[in-house]
Amino acid sequence: MQNISHNKPFLADIDCSDIVNVIKSGFVSYGEQSKCFENELCKFLGLPEGHAVVTTSGSSALYLALNALNAEGKTVAVPSYVCSSLRNAVSFAKGKIKYIDIEHNYPNININELNKIKPDIAIIPHMFGIPVDLDKINKEITVIEDCAQSIGGGYKGTMVGTYGTIGIFSFYATKLMTTGEGGAIVSKSKEIINKVRDFIDFDCRYDNKIRFNFHMSDINAALGRLQLKLLPEFIKRREKIFNIYKTTGLTFIEPNISTVKPVRYRVVLKTNKQNELKKLLLQKGISSIIPIEEGELLYPSSNAVKLANNSLSIPCYPALTDEQVMYIKEKLEEIC
Ligand SMILES: *Cc1c(COP(=O)(O)O)cnc(C)c1O
Repeated sequence: MQNISHNKPFLADIDCSDIVNVIKSGFVSYGEQSKCFENELCKFLGLPEGHAVVTTSGSSALYLALNALNAEGKTVAVPSYVCSSLRNAVSFAKGKIKYIDIEHNYPNININELNKIKPDIAIIPHMFGIPVDLDKINKEITVIEDCAQSIGGGYKGTMVGTYGTIGIFSFYATKLMTTGEGGAIVSKSKEIINKVRDFIDFDCRYDNKIRFNFHMSDINAALGRLQLKLLPEFIKRREKIFNIYKTTGLTFIEPNISTVKPVRYRVVLKTNKQNELKKLLLQKGISSIIPIEEGELLYPSSNAVKLANNSLSIPCYPALTDEQVMYIKEKLEEIC
């Protein structure tokens, strides 16, 4: 009997000596490793050095982004189909939240509705690794790209995260790459990056300004550097697994425009029998999840409710063995 988890970070087979060396060096807080990780992220994303700041989480990166944009009192739009991290960040930054529905049968924000509302700021998640058509967004709206699920994805020849005013990333254990807990904020604007740095560098300051510590540790950053080196391989492996699942002929959520390059963060089946299917897969030792359940939605918008009740995410991650992938494919064919 197989026992396949829905997700598992790729950690068991990495060489941890770099992380051990950081611990042994005695310098474990924000320092050299974190700065190297920041610059390697810039390089990966095609940004000049010095345009990334690593943080404690994707959530803190979101908060820092809103704070750098002086979101207090401004309208901030978020999709209703997303995790609560966005609502929390807007609340902490004292923004006025507006919920926007997603597109019909599609996990990304409805841009027509967004443009109609025309908020000051919009947090735009590229859900499941599928990039949003950012050019369609009214240019007067300041865009924070939420790339927690989409690092390595592309939009019109650039990397996601570098198109909007600010990009944020998460390195939580279930994401495309992990530092355990962690995140990053990037921007083409040096002014925004400087503001973020000033805000988190709270120690040894000689004014009364309120700041807060959201620094990553060098232990996490050393892991992040190892993971970032492997990320292109991770992405290729996910693509390969996704293509094997596609041979079943089942319907998965895929990009509806050709100008984007997705990453296969979540392989999501469209099904009106999600609970039944989940149970049958579990009987075969395969765990699956409803990516966002109806009760978790930030707002019960109609398309969001529909997708919450008609989707099931199946295992797709580089730690899966070839045998496990074939087993999942066969069981899908058997059951569906
Ligand atoms: C995971 C996630 C976050 C939050 O990141 P954390 O590192 O867990 O705080 C934010 N937005 C989206 C779309 C996510 O998937």
